[in-house]
Amino acid sequence: MTSKSWLKGNLHTHTTNSDGDESPEHVAEWYHDHGYDWLCLSDHNHLTILEGSDAEKARWPLLVRGEEVTSRNAVHVNGYGVTELVEASDSPDVIDAMRENVDRIIAAGGMASINHPNFRWAFDDGAMMQVEGYKFMEIFNGHPDTHNSGGGGKASSIGIWDRLLSRGRQVWGLAVDDSHNYTGEFHVDRSNPGRGWVQVKSASLTQQDILEALSVGEFYASTGVTIGDMVSNTREIKIDIDVETHANGTKAKYTTVFSGSNGTTLYESTSNSPGYKPSRLDRYIRATVYSSRGGRAWTQPVFIDSSK
Ligand SMILES: [Zn+2]
Ligand SMILES: [Zn+2]
Repeated sequence: MTSKSWLKGNLHTHTTNSDGDESPEHVAEWYHDHGYDWLCLSDHNHLTILEGSDAEKARWPLLVRGEEVTSRNAVHVNGYGVTELVEASDSPDVIDAMRENVDRIIAAGGMASINHPNFRWAFDDGAMMQVEGYKFMEIFNGHPDTHNSGGGGKASSIGIWDRLLSRGRQVWGLAVDDSHNYTGEFHVDRSNPGRGWVQVKSASLTQQDILEALSVGEFYASTGVTIGDMVSNTREIKIDIDVETHANGTKAKYTTVFSGSNGTTLYESTSNSPGYKPSRLDRYIRATVYSSRGGRAWTQPVFIDSSK
């Protein structure tokens, strides 16, 4: 019998094959030592493939192939599971570059994720609505220059996600590190590992099963909240939060917000096992779990077909 369990991974990180400050081997070891089951080494315009002996591989998480297809106009699109190097678009137009990068990733056998929309304030949902074929977008990126929260009239990454979902786009939301700095001081102003990840409900720890589970949204994104069991379908969303306990015995507290079209709050709960039953009037529902320690978890949206 195969029972599916959560497998922790980071989908966006850099090594000395692009602008990271450590070797692929060192980076892989960092993630293994910090409890990650799998990792994507997504260098800029470079397909990093680590080969090693069995003894070396035992010190690395499972490696999932990827590349950050990087155009000069700040359009960065991650390709997951690509079988060959993808050349980045050199179009100066943001929409053209996004389309070309997504299409080339798909042609190389991969799945596309639109990265960090607010990096250099490059684009928002208006541009993303004009591009087809991508499965994911980054809703949290751990790099300090990616402006996840928006402001000054610019939508947050989550706000951009909700606008896409509200207009009928089925896009899964990723939390990632986009880590570059593994040496020296770890600091909020540096791009260090360990800030954003996904937990995937995968049949097994293989690249194929991880990619398959990601493809159908069988995962949640997190910056510090752990979910135990979760039911998520059109009849019910039910979350069992793994309550964090400090060394002194104090337990963290949680608030869960179930939201729908345009990010509207449908229901808020302070239970450690919050749940919500969608109505036929809801178009999509997703949940955000807020920890008193500052971390969050985002479940993937459930889409309600009101025609049924
Ligand atoms: Zn990038
Ligand atoms: Zn990056």
